[in-house]
Amino acid sequence: MSERPEMKTSDRYVVVFGVDGVRLDTLRAARTPHLDAIEAAGFLAEFEVSTDAPTLSGPCWASVATGMPPRVHGIFGNVFANHRLGVFGDVFATVRRRGLPTFVGAAWAPLVTTAHGGPVFAPPTRLSYADGEVLGHDAADGLVADDAARALGQGDFNASFVYLGEPDEVAHAVGCGSDYVAAIERADARVGRVRAAIEARPTYPAEHWTFLVVTDHGHVDAGGHGGRSRWERTAWLAACGAGVGGAAPDGVNHLSVAPTVLAALGHDLRHESHLPGVSLVGDPVPAT
Ligand SMILES: [Zn+2]
Repeated sequence: MSERPEMKTSDRYVVVFGVDGVRLDTLRAARTPHLDAIEAAGFLAEFEVSTDAPTLSGPCWASVATGMPPRVHGIFGNVFANHRLGVFGDVFATVRRRGLPTFVGAAWAPLVTTAHGGPVFAPPTRLSYADGEVLGHDAADGLVADDAARALGQGDFNASFVYLGEPDEVAHAVGCGSDYVAAIERADARVGRVRAAIEARPTYPAEHWTFLVVTDHGHVDAGGHGGRSRWERTAWLAACGAGVGGAAPDGVNHLSVAPTVLAALGHDLRHESHLPGVSLVGDPVPAT
């Protein structure tokens, strides 16, 4: 049941791709035609990871998911003790509570299972989980992307989070060399596969889709992160589609994702004033 039944939301969709551990300088050197297309249709903005917590996946993805900084959601590392997700939950759960179907796909267990004190994301309408530790991170991301393409191409999920973890795993294993570039290029191809499935929807021309791609943190040259060197603390966010302009608003960071998800679905952010981040989508997108 929608809180605002006068607002038509069924033809609005937002997809957030979370790609783990992608250095901006390596991204610029890699061949990423699908991300380039998103940037060309919208923008890609660089920003610094919050100084609240080490540059680790747990706090960064929790900030993306909840729209709150680590000092509020309480996740400061990759083991989630004493977090406050029960109070400041993920935005996709908010969307689901308001009556719209959600999809979350991920191969990093703490995001979607009880591993390490998770999940960061409360159960969505449809969950896709592949265990990267068991299947290998390339295969697991492939399964998540395939399932996301099926779900978003054929189903009706208004808000989706699609996590791709292989680049981070490769950087940890072998550093930021050619294998890391190749993993980033595979992640880009997976983003492209999901977008192509969406654009093949028979109803696509009449729908409003907003796309975001965001990384959590970077890496040092040898692989590894947690500190604040130039390429560890640098993150980036790209967006295009319904409601997104050709330049990033000032102040874009991880906290921008949650209010953008709500605004892209037509929720008036004046009613979301507890979210401190800058939305990438201004006034609600006009519904058709
Ligand atoms: Zn990592």
